[in-house]
Amino acid sequence: MSLDLLTASMSETAKAIAAKKVSAAEVTKYFYARTEKLNPQLNAFIKLNPDCLKQAENIDQKIAKGENVGVLAGVPFGIKDLLCTKGIETTAASKMLTGFVPPYDSTVVARLKNAGATVVGKLNLDEFAMGSSNESSYHGVVKNPWNPEYVPGGSSGGSAAAQAARLVMGTIGTDTGGSIRQPSSFCGVVGIKPTYGRVSRYGIVAFASSLDQAGPMVSTVEDAALTLEVIAGKDEMDGTTSTRPVEAFSKNLNADMKGKKIGIVKEYHNSELVHPDIRKTYEQAIETLKGLGAEFVEVSIPLTKYAVSMYYLISASEASSNLARYDGVKYGYRSDFKDLAGLPLDEFYAQTRAEGFGKEVKRRIILGTFCLSSGYFDAFYGKACQVRRLLRNQYDEAFAKCDAIISPVSTTPSFKIGTRVYDPLKMYLNDIFTTSTNLAGLPGMSVPFGLTSEDSLPIGIQLTGHHFQEQKILDVAYALEKHSPVKGKVPHVY
Ligand code: GLN
Repeated sequence: MSLDLLTASMSETAKAIAAKKVSAAEVTKYFYARTEKLNPQLNAFIKLNPDCLKQAENIDQKIAKGENVGVLAGVPFGIKDLLCTKGIETTAASKMLTGFVPPYDSTVVARLKNAGATVVGKLNLDEFAMGSSNESSYHGVVKNPWNPEYVPGGSSGGSAAAQAARLVMGTIGTDTGGSIRQPSSFCGVVGIKPTYGRVSRYGIVAFASSLDQAGPMVSTVEDAALTLEVIAGKDEMDGTTSTRPVEAFSKNLNADMKGKKIGIVKEYHNSELVHPDIRKTYEQAIETLKGLGAEFVEVSIPLTKYAVSMYYLISASEASSNLARYDGVKYGYRSDFKDLAGLPLDEFYAQTRAEGFGKEVKRRIILGTFCLSSGYFDAFYGKACQVRRLLRNQYDEAFAKCDAIISPVSTTPSFKIGTRVYDPLKMYLNDIFTTSTNLAGLPGMSVPFGLTSEDSLPIGIQLTGHHFQEQKILDVAYALEKHSPVKGKVPHVY
């Protein structure tokens, strides 16, 4: 095999498979075996899908017959366990969904498969995607491949860890308030949250419907661009998807930064919350882009100061409504009742939900239910929605002056397992740089650009774009990637 599968790009691999230089079966077998070997150390995958080998053989047969195969022909993927996969248990890392086997694929998964990707398995996450450290999973914490004592970030921690350890060639995560970008930063991979409405939410377990988006978490900017092309675009099954044509992001990638205008958010400038290594990486990224000819402009988004409050209010409110469907009747888990006949219905619901949901999920349901309750709705949820609109207006003004905004992804790099899980407020505050992107419906991404000085843990740079301007942030990320001081650095588990 002339292809080095640990470094090969998705398009190189798919082309080599289509040209019969290597078979899809060989490639998928390689990654499946690698996952089987390394996953016990990381706990990144919740479930493996041995059928991926059959999927790969089908692709090889199509190629043998001269049939057309897609741009991801034979490229093995891991899928966050929040996305429905036909015939494969989908749990959202909750006891509540144990045993739920969807009869259909989410649109994202269906599109990946149509493009020839194989599905190696389902990736761990915080329960119902609520969390920033992957410690709230019913299936246990995921270890950061750079140092197993540290969290991989969350909620798409399994996706980030699996990708960083290159257990697969690509993964899919979801991002409601930072869950693609923050774990990508913590594990040193490239992750992009598309514009709200760019990617279909059909078949994705809903957390906060007005904020959720799925996107790629992969090894390179080019792979991110290609994967996004495949999964994006109008879907009849999700009325919020945009009819806008999907550009050829990967072919259009352009690292020329001359004349590009990059925004720096005034309000982020003197934040004392930011860890010194993150500040250093951020300043280094700015210097690099300046050296490449980019111009910098200061923009002001005063309402970002309320982003975390707005986000936790709105996301918890929507979650409390979305999670009402898990009642022990329709899906997954039901408490083991001895005598169903004589049982009052509310006891049936209450006991099932008390046993089925974890602590963090219950906290959000309680908070959300309170915010939506009569007498409080206008004061909390209604007000937050109004401020959210104003925040979006402030971004519109900022993007009249620049092509992309640069910022840190999170206030701190990865932290040790067990050190923050008992302090939810501290955990929530880590999301200060990511949540406003979702509130305004903007595309955002993280690209690796540094390592911490003490323990060599990855640090990413966040790029945020105006609505449907994914190409612009991908281009800046592409330029940063080419000049990244951590280019080629991989975790020990490799
Ligand atoms: N950390 C945020 C939360 O806990 C973001 C989660 C997400 O984006 N899914 O809600």
